[in-house]
Amino acid sequence: MWNLAERLPIDAFRLEQCLPGTKRRIHLLVATMPDGQPLTIPLLVVRGHGAGPVLLASAAVHGDEYEGVIAIQDLFDRLDSEILNGTFIGIPVLNGPAFAAATREGIWDHQNLARVFPGNPEGSLTQRLAYSFQRYLLPLADLYVDLHAGGNAYAIKALAGYMLRDDPIGERQRAAAIAFGLEFVWGTAPLPGRTLSAAANLNIPAIYVELRGEGRARSADVASAGRGLGHLMAFLGMMPGAYPTEAPLLIEDRSAGSGHLQLDHPSPAAGIFIPAVELWQLVEQGQLLGSVRHPDGTLQATITAARSGRILFIRTLPRVFAGDTVAFVLEEPPA
Ligand SMILES: [Zn+2]
Repeated sequence: MWNLAERLPIDAFRLEQCLPGTKRRIHLLVATMPDGQPLTIPLLVVRGHGAGPVLLASAAVHGDEYEGVIAIQDLFDRLDSEILNGTFIGIPVLNGPAFAAATREGIWDHQNLARVFPGNPEGSLTQRLAYSFQRYLLPLADLYVDLHAGGNAYAIKALAGYMLRDDPIGERQRAAAIAFGLEFVWGTAPLPGRTLSAAANLNIPAIYVELRGEGRARSADVASAGRGLGHLMAFLGMMPGAYPTEAPLLIEDRSAGSGHLQLDHPSPAAGIFIPAVELWQLVEQGQLLGSVRHPDGTLQATITAARSGRILFIRTLPRVFAGDTVAFVLEEPPA
């Protein structure tokens, strides 16, 4: 049984308010927006009949990434609290003000929620969201997964990633990322301001997932995210089931900034970007990645690969501004 959505201040929420064997939809009040509407975090809680760990999953940290939103909603609908050990907490839309605008950044302050952690309870709406999430929700998790995607402007090869660290939490993160079950698993150097850096500060194992994007939520990508969340629950022992223990491609890159996609191959000009390569294609250093045309059709720039590798991330929204990344080329380790 589940109740219709109820609303309470986020600092008044306790997991114990959700009884074993129940599902609940709760809106947690965080702040008031400039238009007077409440800023809430929607919570979907499935409290298993049996005791066990807590899997926390969020989506729409960026407001134009949709696959994880639907995967969390679908999982909430189909999970059976009677056979679940432990608790699934899903946050289908963590960043409501960005979701409302269908943009990466919040509609009121144009801040990127994945850059402001640990946030500030007195700060902008985006900073308050970050603060409230890391103060009241993240500490509930035994494992946290942050579901991202390529968004409106990019396509990305689906991957599960984690921040590298040399301790048992680092090993747990690697195992969880593999267990999610995507072809590519990527460990990268820690970056500040993220949900994952907030989790690292709290010593909570955490991974992130990237799904294809292009401003869409293809059913195959939503289903793949749902399968991954199921694998994580099996990994945690919350339900029976198998999960992968090896990844077809696992890359760990300790170089500074290794996981940062938005700086690679910036467009030198504004205009219309026309890609010359496909996602996950192998390219050689110097190979044409794409060109930029003025709206009158004249060529403004060509962009070539700075190194050999695979196209992990490619711009799919044709309109581009100078400085926008057009592609990320992933160097594969020598065989
Ligand atoms: Zn994202």
